Amino acid sequence: YIWERKDIKDDILKDYDFMKELGSGNFSVVYEGVNKNTGKRVAIKHLNLSKINTHTTKFKSQLNREIEILKFIKHENVVQIYDIFYSKDQQLFFILELANGGELYNKIGFNEPLLNENQSRFVFKQILNAVSYLHSEGIAHRDLKPENILFESYGDDYLKIKITDFGLARFIHEGELAKTLCGSPLYVAPEVILSIHQKNKYGNRSSQSPSKDLSSVGYGKSCDAWSLGAILYIVLSGTPPFDDDDDAEMSTPQLFEKIVSGNYKFPEKTWSLISSSAADLVKGLLTVDPEKRLTVEQALHHPWITEINSSYKNDR
Ligand code: ADP
Ligand code: MG
Repeated sequence: YIWERKDIKDDILKDYDFMKELGSGNFSVVYEGVNKNTGKRVAIKHLNLSKINTHTTKFKSQLNREIEILKFIKHENVVQIYDIFYSKDQQLFFILELANGGELYNKIGFNEPLLNENQSRFVFKQILNAVSYLHSEGIAHRDLKPENILFESYGDDYLKIKITDFGLARFIHEGELAKTLCGSPLYVAPEVILSIHQKNKYGNRSSQSPSKDLSSVGYGKSCDAWSLGAILYIVLSGTPPFDDDDDAEMSTPQLFEKIVSGNYKFPEKTWSLISSSAADLVKGLLTVDPEKRLTVEQALHHPWITEINSSYKNDR
């Protein structure tokens, strides 16, 4: 079992001091920490495994696999993992590369974009590069959302991003999502919703007419492409694609219905200020049928990404 892995240590306090809290998710709290020996500042992701059912073999083998994946990943736009600690009372700690600039979530204005189109392109291109790298290595993130995309450091003209929240977190979320639909499903692909819900519950309503029953497709890398489409939409416009303002109190089933039918719009008010090329890329990614959806690799070659070569810094 993982607890017997030689690369997992048990006494985190021997090596690290805990500083302030940086953020939290459904199953974890993340702190800033300092390595006592080197002075290096890191992020420490703490998961209390005693709160979840860790006794299944599925969990244990998945956990091992996820740790292998985490340690394998190496990309300048992905948070790196340095070390793993596990204590006997089922506390798991990931020592991660520190990304101190806050979440992309905080750079989404409410009903108006905070990043201009060139800044959005600069940010999105890095996200595509990172996810394309993951996909080329056979890894799907499956929980891409603005809360999991971090800036390396603060500053309006410093927009280098790092993707976080891999593996284990996603593995736990998934089981939980199936049971309680936790969190906001704004970025979840149609085929994920359909694979979680019983077949046909949301079937046969697609205005985009998918070529076949999506719930039989299962889901893999293409669900990341969908999430990226939703992320690009909200970054550019300040509004999520499937949660419009005349329906602020929309329930989760209503939201799911909209997602699986690909029922979203580009309201004039905001999208008249955004290039049609950007909207075209959003459309390619927010395609209900995973087989017709742009891949992340294709998105990297989309004109909106490639044609304009200006840096966000020169933008006016
Ligand atoms: P969860 O799986 O519970 O969602 P995350 O890995 O997304 O946990 O971390 C929760 C939050 O902690 C993130 O949304 C972010 O605000 C912060 N965080 C995570 N990793 C880092 C990091 N490497 N550097 C700085 N902050 C981080
Ligand atoms: Mg998260």
